[in-house]
Formats: sequence, structure tokens, C-alpha cells
Amino acid sequence: MNPDMILIRFGEFTMKGKNRDRFDKRMVEQVRRSLRSFVRAEITRTYGRIYITLNGEPYEEIAVKLKDIFGIATFSPIRKVANDLEAIRSAALEVMQALPSQPATFKVSTKRVEKQFPHDTQEMNHLVGGHVLRETPGLKVNVREPEVELRVEIQPEGTYVFSSVVQAAGGFPYGTNGKAMLLLSGGIDSPVAGYLAMRQGLEIEAVHFHSYPFTSDKAKEKVIDLVRRLSHYSGVPIKLHLVSFTDIQSALAQSGQDPLIITLMRRSMLRIAERIAEQVGAFGLVSGDSLGQVASQTLGSMNVIGRSAQLPLLRPLITMDKNEIIRIARQIDTFETSILPFEDCCTLFVPKSPSTNPNLAIVEQTEQAIAGLEDMITEAVSSVEVMRITPEVRSAVETAGEDSWF
Ligand code: ATP
Ligand code: MG
Repeated sequence: MNPDMILIRFGEFTMKGKNRDRFDKRMVEQVRRSLRSFVRAEITRTYGRIYITLNGEPYEEIAVKLKDIFGIATFSPIRKVANDLEAIRSAALEVMQALPSQPATFKVSTKRVEKQFPHDTQEMNHLVGGHVLRETPGLKVNVREPEVELRVEIQPEGTYVFSSVVQAAGGFPYGTNGKAMLLLSGGIDSPVAGYLAMRQGLEIEAVHFHSYPFTSDKAKEKVIDLVRRLSHYSGVPIKLHLVSFTDIQSALAQSGQDPLIITLMRRSMLRIAERIAEQVGAFGLVSGDSLGQVASQTLGSMNVIGRSAQLPLLRPLITMDKNEIIRIARQIDTFETSILPFEDCCTLFVPKSPSTNPNLAIVEQTEQAIAGLEDMITEAVSSVEVMRITPEVRSAVETAGEDSWF
């Protein structure tokens, strides 16, 4: 049995006053785009909610898509019936019977928006609850801590009956909080950082530094694949800026400051990323740094590295440990790609003992002593290769499953 409709609830952004209309509109756009292959599904917006009338389109497949849309807090499959007591009672029983496992306790919560309806909320709780109890041996009412809360919403256009509340991605609709430039390596962390930034409503463009021919085409393919996976969540194409870092990296490697080389590389990366960000109207940079993970991610290193850029540097993973990051990477389906063993430009010249507490003055002197560094940075910015990565077409059927929708 398929539900009649889906009720979609938004997240925290419903609180944001005058921005709300913009958020709501973006939300509807995202839902429409994501469900465009379900041609019979009708999408309507009411204050703070979206309803999807399924008209026979498969709930399970649509649910898989809704779970990945940023800004959706929860959703519920619902039965819609006429404002008629008997119709409401039988819908209530159907909803209870369609639960994946039978609960021991429940309660009915009625909300009566249509004041013409002849029974008030208390009466309805009893009339509907009594019917369900009579038809379900062993079931009891527990008003305080029910296993299942059966909701009955009597609206002017009909009555909605539902019980399950499915958690979705949460956050803000994609792109409603501005644009940021993601520094994307081929590792585990930066795709997760990108995902979390996107979930918070940031539109992203990605920048990747390669040292072709020392890094291979395979490494490039890997980064393209990661962006493609991220674009599944944006629902729209993501731009990838590929920057040749070979000359800069060689120049830095010849500076004779082995322990500082990672610090120096990161600073040049930030400078380049910042210039590209400014060209495309991005007001922040996002990296996959996590405190203490490697030498370049101590507070001392982050201080010296961060000073090379003016734009805010966002680090969504800063307080997460590796296991948490890996858990999210698996969940968003970037992990398997991230662990493919292709060289990253930074792994090429890893010093034996990278500094965990670099000295800013020495770092700055070293940079000044490298002839033409500024020109190389300018050259790197002007010769970026830009790709537009579109979401892959995924079959929802593969991921959909369960028979029951409540
Ligand atoms: P990741 O798993 O994202 O590679 P990591 O823990 O391996 O992170 P580093 O390799 O030290 O840490 O990189 C720290 C951050 O610097 C990355 O998360 C990423 O944001 C950025 N970064 C590193 N290498 C590159 C690269 N080649 N291109 C773009 N950004 C990079
Ligand atoms: Mg890395």
C-alpha cells in the first residue's frame, strides 16, 4: 500500500523572519528538481511546509531522495481522507496496521484546524483511539510515553492521518547562505568538510591542486569523482578548479626549509584559493582540517597557515575525530573513492619531520627569498582549468526497499 501524500517539514531556518520566503522557495525548487522523474507527483507549498501528492508514484523511491535534500528536517508519509469520522477511523487503523512492527502502546493526537468539524480534539482522540483499540488485540494507550503517536490533522481540505516521522538531512537549502571555495584534496576529510558546508546552506566551488606529471590522471579522475558525489547533494552542477602546483611546489622544495615545506605549500594553496574565490564571488574558504590530526593541523600550524589568507577559513571538521569523519564519509558515499591509492601533490614531498609549531617570521622570510613566488601564484591562478561537474543519474530503485512506509 502506498501513502497518498508526504508532508515535509523544514529545519531551523523557518525561524529566520524575512529570509524565510527565499528559503521556502529554494526548498520547493530543490524538491521539484529532485523528484522531476516522478511526473505524477504534485508539489504544493503552504506556510512552513511542503506537501507532495503522490498520485500513485512510489513512496519508497521518493523517500530515498528526500532524505538527501538539505533543509528538510523530517517528513511523514500520510493518508488523506475526507473530513468524515468513519473515513478517519479506518485510515487510522490502516496506518497502525502498516507499521513495520506492532507497538505495545500508542496515543492519538488530534489537531483540529477546521473548526466546522463536529467533534473536538478530545472527542476525536477517544473516537479514533477507541476504534483502533477494539481492532488491535493487546494494544494499550499510554499518553505520556507512547511507542507510536498517531496524528490526526483535520484541515479544511481534508484530514491527514500519519504516525511516522522520518529524519532527513536537516540544515539549510543548498546555496541559501552564500558561496565558499572548498579546498578539495583526494583524501577522506575534505569531501566530508564540503558536504557539511553544503548542508549548512553554502554553495560551493572546489579547488584542487595537482602536480602533474608527478601526480597522475587517475588522481585527477578521483577528485572529479568526489565532486560528482558531492553534486548529488547540491542537485546542481559544481565547478571544479584544477590548479597546477608543480612549479610552486618545486620552488618551495628547493628553499632548504624541509620541516616548513607543508606549511609553505598550504600557504600558497590558500593564497591561490583565495584569489579564485574572489573572482567567483565566494566569501569564504573551506578545508578538511581536524585539530591535531597531522603536523599541519596543530593550532600553531593553523595560525601560521591561516595568516596567508584574508577570507574566513571554515573548518567544519575541526573538533571531530577520525572515526566520526569516516562514518560520515561512508554515509555520504565518498569513502571508497577517497581511499583509492593515488598520489596527492602533498604526499610527494613529505618531509621526515614536519614542523608542528612553525615560526611565522621564518616562514615569511623563506617566502620572500624564493624568487618569483608571487608571479608563480599569479600564473597558477590565470591558468586554472575549470570543469563543471554534473550529478550522476542514480537509480533510486536500488536503494529503496522496505515494504512498509509507516
Ligand atoms: P584530506 O583527507 O582532506 O586530504 P588530510 O587530513 O589528509 O585531509 P592534509 O592532507 O594535511 O590533511 O590537508 C589538509 C587540508 O588541506 C585538506 O583537508 C584540504 O582542505 C586541503 N588540501 C590538501 N591538499 C590539497 C590539494 N591537493 N588540493 C586542494 N586542497 C588540499
Ligand atoms: Mg590529505
